[in-house]
Amino acid sequence: MKTLLLAAALAVAAVHVDAKPRKPAQKSGQKAAAKSSRHKAPAKLATLPGPAFPTYAQPGQIEAACDAGLAGAKQRVAALEQHKPDAGWLRASDELNAYIEDVSNPIDFLSHVHPDKAMRDTAQACALRWAEFLSTLGQNETLYRAAKQVQPADAIDREYLRDTLQGFEDAGVGLPPEPRARAKAINDRITDLGQQFEKNVRDDNTQLAFTEAELRGVPESVWKGAKRDAQGRVLLTLAYPHYFPVVQSAEDPAARERMWRAKTDEGGEANLKLLGEIAQLRREYAQLFGHASFDDFKLRRRMAEKTEKVLRFLDDVKAAVADAEQRELQELREAKARHLNQPVQSVKLQRWDLPYYTERVRRERYSVDQEAFRPYFPPQPSLKFALRVIEKTMGVRYTRVPAKLWHPEVQAYAVSEAKTGKPLATLLVDLYPREGKYNHAAVFSYRNGSTLLDRVPQAALVVNFDRQGLTLEELETLLHELGHAVHNNLSATRYSSQGGTSTLRDFVEAPSQMLEDWVYDPEVLKTFAEVCPVCKPVPEALLDKARAAKDYGKGVKFARQHLYASYDIALHGPDAPEPMGLWARMEGATPMGHVAGSKFPAGFGHLASGYAAGYYGYLWSLVLAMDLRTAFEPDKLDPKVGRRYRDIVLGNGGQRPPQELVREFLGREPNAKAFYDYLKQ
Ligand SMILES: [Zn+2]
Repeated sequence: MKTLLLAAALAVAAVHVDAKPRKPAQKSGQKAAAKSSRHKAPAKLATLPGPAFPTYAQPGQIEAACDAGLAGAKQRVAALEQHKPDAGWLRASDELNAYIEDVSNPIDFLSHVHPDKAMRDTAQACALRWAEFLSTLGQNETLYRAAKQVQPADAIDREYLRDTLQGFEDAGVGLPPEPRARAKAINDRITDLGQQFEKNVRDDNTQLAFTEAELRGVPESVWKGAKRDAQGRVLLTLAYPHYFPVVQSAEDPAARERMWRAKTDEGGEANLKLLGEIAQLRREYAQLFGHASFDDFKLRRRMAEKTEKVLRFLDDVKAAVADAEQRELQELREAKARHLNQPVQSVKLQRWDLPYYTERVRRERYSVDQEAFRPYFPPQPSLKFALRVIEKTMGVRYTRVPAKLWHPEVQAYAVSEAKTGKPLATLLVDLYPREGKYNHAAVFSYRNGSTLLDRVPQAALVVNFDRQGLTLEELETLLHELGHAVHNNLSATRYSSQGGTSTLRDFVEAPSQMLEDWVYDPEVLKTFAEVCPVCKPVPEALLDKARAAKDYGKGVKFARQHLYASYDIALHGPDAPEPMGLWARMEGATPMGHVAGSKFPAGFGHLASGYAAGYYGYLWSLVLAMDLRTAFEPDKLDPKVGRRYRDIVLGNGGQRPPQELVREFLGREPNAKAFYDYLKQ
């Protein structure tokens, strides 16, 4: 999350970065690590670094904590207003940020994951009060004037000060009284609407009933244990462990269509209205500052700098993948024709056919089935594997520590320096789906570290995995999220406001995406045996096939990402068009067309949250991620390269411009060669 002073200006406090979220490993590995070091083997950490995650037994306790936190923050703001704008002012302002993080973020986070709806709702109400507090803080003239007088001592102070001043300015502190009041009102309203949007998706308990015949092709393990309705039909939810297997493997097109439509309509009419109002308000907000669009307003603070630059970039991506998209769609159509034994001219490829025939072609052509990986990747060993990869590469150690958290299955890990045992951070992990839980994959960086304040970072990794095991693609997701978690955990910035993932929005997906393809490397996968000696190793032939199949469907996939990014930019353009009509037009212009009545934007949570005018950041970050990967090309587990990456790219969080960090790490100017080579190959 960006600095809280900045968050006020961001209109929504984006706490999480998402995807599409111990025990030391094997003994021999440990001994080797200890021997290679001149230090003594470090003691295991028995406690979690930093404050314990708060536990609340009932909503009243959340309310009380909320009241106390807000009262404390008000006192601290008053104290900061009295602080001279001297050399100590920056530290004092960051202490305020740190305090606010600690009292507000865990509660905000609980609104996404607490098993009890009343607790979630209370936490959400508290988050709204904090957003109101922050939008007021963003317009605090006394603090703004003080910040303007502070003399930065060095480049890091200068960057921090610049961020702080921009945060105030983007919150409207410099506007005349009337537009200024309007800016605050808009900020508060957008937060409220964004919360409602997320809640509508999270609390959507849609269940679909299928007969066993309708589920033909879907692995039995997916539905055997599911609830049944009065007629004995299997009840499936929209959670990933149900959704993906049905759309990827149900032979019955009607079953796939029902599942696809239900998922695509998640959030419903209500969310389309909310999104429309949010987009209008964002445009009005930008106009208060003299900008034609929210895109222009936001992008000037990002790596991309200008809307035109993003549009040019998106055009280049489109040009690079257009042929592959057409070719793949034709192949999928032919696969459908073969499957149904019909002439290809009479076959239409539907949206709900895409995942199914993509998997089918992958199976036919590469004889690989993602489902075949589940037995090799049980969830807990998969987590251990992912953590072990980080241990080997980045010189840290994860120690599982018993802790009482929001759900009995949530795990807590102390992260420490492998050589010295120095406590570094806390990582919480919530692996499995449950009703009312945030239903994608994300890392919530609820506490940022600061070297100045001697403050350790903490983050929570949240995913929704099948208890039967992970597919290779899900293992990729796990690595992706862990990439965000280490960005938070291994950050060593001076100020908490610039810790780890508080970097620019169009860079934040680089460290996560960089790690994704680690799982296709046989050397990396060998690590699995270190953490789970009883797990059967993935047969080399299966991995080879998966690697060959990996890029099948790349054209369709990137064309889709291009559509999402372009839609986001268009929605936040000078017209702020009505969301559903815009989507129908833009999706309608793609080769697959638009399915009348489907409501994709209703569940597109990124747009209602901090990724607004920023979805392109996934592609933008991927350019950098692929360039970063080149340094790991000879050996992904090389601890020297890993350590440099940790110190330079992760360690500096948002306190230095990303371009500069990538350049220093690579020892050359960053470029897009690896990205375009990959798209075009
Ligand atoms: Zn991500």
